[in-house]
Amino acid sequence: MIHISNLRFNYPNGGFRLAIPELAIDDGERVAVIGPSGSGKTTFLNLISGIAVPSCGSVRVGGMELSAMGDAARRDFRIANIGFIFQDFELLEYLKVRDNMLHPYRINRTLRLDPDVRARAARLAEDMGLADLLDRYPNQLSQGEKQRVAICRALLPRPEILLADEPTGNLDPLSKGRIINLLSEHARRCNATWVNVTHDHGCLDAFDRVIDFAQFGSRAVA
Ligand code: ADP
Ligand code: MG
Repeated sequence: MIHISNLRFNYPNGGFRLAIPELAIDDGERVAVIGPSGSGKTTFLNLISGIAVPSCGSVRVGGMELSAMGDAARRDFRIANIGFIFQDFELLEYLKVRDNMLHPYRINRTLRLDPDVRARAARLAEDMGLADLLDRYPNQLSQGEKQRVAICRALLPRPEILLADEPTGNLDPLSKGRIINLLSEHARRCNATWVNVTHDHGCLDAFDRVIDFAQFGSRAVA
């Protein structure tokens, strides 16, 4: 369960303000987040993954009050429980595709890198059309290929919570459908909560609910 109440957030030196009085997302729920560019969709995912902390209010995720935790504890919690597909991928440029995919296992003690994980990584890469690219570095990939690596990295630990920030933003229509099906299949198999930011109104049928962020974000007039 993700439960937000009385949340307020603003960036230190920006005019943007996010205010969410009350928002609950059930375990296993699939939610599409839509809204104009700049309405706070990415900020929202950062808040529910503990990357950002609110100025006031509560963010509870899986029974944990994120704003009461220290930076290191929030980071461990995120890596162990949340698969985050970042809008700008956040691949590590100095690591090959294979090592980018396995990176969460190298920085979190609760994830164990065993032969089964390596075999699943190879299968996932195959499914995502990345099998021939495992020894490349991110700067040798197209945008769409980078996006698929970011998706593999997020899915490999089988997270209970999947946060996807425009995961089909750089893909052609056929690939978009395949990615939505793959994320949907993950959510079903792991009974995962899936929060997916999208501008693609053609894929909204894959979700239980749509949250429009136009209602939450605002920009102060200077
Ligand atoms: P969306 O994902 O809906 O396009 P974002 O959550 O990325 O929107 O951004 C919401 C607003 O916050 C935007 O006006 C953006 O310019 C601003 N913003 C985002 N990140 C920062 C930051 N690190 N510092 C200051 N302002 C930011
Ligand atoms: Mg965004």
